[in-house]
Amino acid sequence: MTREVKKEDRRRHVFVIGAGASGMMAAIRAAREGARVTVLEANERAGRKLAATGNGRCNFTNLTAVPDAYRGNNPSFIETALHAYSVEDTIRFFEELGLYPAEEDGRLYPRSMQAQSVVDLLRREMDRLGVTCKYQEHVESVRILREARKQELQKEGAASRNFEIKTGTWQYQADTLILACGSKASSIAGSGEDGYRLAKSLGHTIWKPLPALVPLSLRGVKFSAWAGVRTKGKLTLLIEDVPAAIETGELQLTDYGISGIPAMVISRYAAKALDEGKKVSVSIDFLPEISLQDMPGFWKRRKEACPDKNTKELLVGLFPDKLIRVLAAQEDVCKAIKGFCLDVEKTLSFSHAQVCQGGVDTREIDPLTMRSLRCPGLYLTGELLDVDGTCGGYNLQWAWTSGTLAGRAAAWESFEAFRHPGTPSVR
Ligand SMILES: Cc1cc2nc3c(=O)[nH]c(=O)nc-3n(C[C@H](O)[C@H](O)[C@H](O)COP(=O)(O)OP(=O)(O)OC[C@H]3O[C@@H](n4cnc5c(N)ncnc54)[C@H](O)[C@@H]3O)c2cc1C
Repeated sequence: MTREVKKEDRRRHVFVIGAGASGMMAAIRAAREGARVTVLEANERAGRKLAATGNGRCNFTNLTAVPDAYRGNNPSFIETALHAYSVEDTIRFFEELGLYPAEEDGRLYPRSMQAQSVVDLLRREMDRLGVTCKYQEHVESVRILREARKQELQKEGAASRNFEIKTGTWQYQADTLILACGSKASSIAGSGEDGYRLAKSLGHTIWKPLPALVPLSLRGVKFSAWAGVRTKGKLTLLIEDVPAAIETGELQLTDYGISGIPAMVISRYAAKALDEGKKVSVSIDFLPEISLQDMPGFWKRRKEACPDKNTKELLVGLFPDKLIRVLAAQEDVCKAIKGFCLDVEKTLSFSHAQVCQGGVDTREIDPLTMRSLRCPGLYLTGELLDVDGTCGGYNLQWAWTSGTLAGRAAAWESFEAFRHPGTPSVR
């Protein structure tokens, strides 16, 4: 190996574990700052989950600021980070890559309505910047290098090596490491516990991961009767009989209970309360357009207008057939329409969830750089952190924000390490 090649090897070298949404963003940002970037991805290609988002259309961000859009044990961390890299920054970034956004009620999609276009644009940008992507490289462990080994490597020409990354086939030494392994949510290959395990091995605390944005399994009626119904409704989640969350929208009634956006949104609170052993139930309002007070009058007028109709017939035109059969079988039909109350047995499993709540404790992370406060040279991004967003593009926005902040800072940090090889590589 020539001296020049050795010098080239000393260029700031950032490793990213995971070529998902936040990992690709981090790799692009670090490379744009001039770092040499290598991405290690367990799957055979980048962005498998990203390609499945938004029903294949990729709702990549949201123009509407919803106060409760993000949840986690450290709200100010999330706020600070999103302020440092905002929705406007995201839109500009993707427009520069060539994405033409299309809006639906504040939700932004690529105009192609193909999530794969977002993956392709990010992939193309990584190629343009010379990012090395190594696929089918499943990272098994990361070890912090001891001082003696670091010095050995420095003598061999490496700038400042902090980590040894072990995959099934190879070992890599990294100055700076970005953990972008995602969460346990979904059945898409690459979703699992690796990120939590690796972060823990590097000194981080993990809030117990639980499913969020997941359907609810209910107790109480034969759900096969209403399976397949889609209808507008309002859900009130009750924890120990106290209202904890309310959502309105299209409900999808299933043979195990309930799905659709409103059910998914309240599910994170249900999952947490069930995990704490609390009683959880859901009250369904199948006619939110009519208030509870107006309901008796509404029903009376309907009966008076058609005195020859029975209960089932009076419901025709208001609800789909299958739902009528369930509602008409209840003793008090008005009560069933306005407050159909059922116990939540459980949420569906991680493999049915879109995201996870819990993850790496963000009190151990710097919100402006995603730098670990526990392990020098380490950065963490995306869903691996204890940050979960509601439906509507908020989770991908988090991936873009955390990926950007981590990628930039990791590049700057390794640049400092290169300029001052004798000093520790933490700014
Ligand atoms: C069906 C579905 C639809 C969704 N739709 C939307 C939507 O429309 N809008 C929205 O905002 N959010 C959506 N989400 C959520 C969003 O996709 C995630 O929040 C986002 O992808 C998280 O990005 P990430 O980089 O943290 O993780 P990921 O995108 O999951 O990437 C993690 C990567 O790390 C790799 N990896 C893991 N462990 C290792 C290892 N040991 N070694 C090497 N590589 C490893 C994985 O293979 C994966 O490629 C959806 C999620 C699902 C499941």
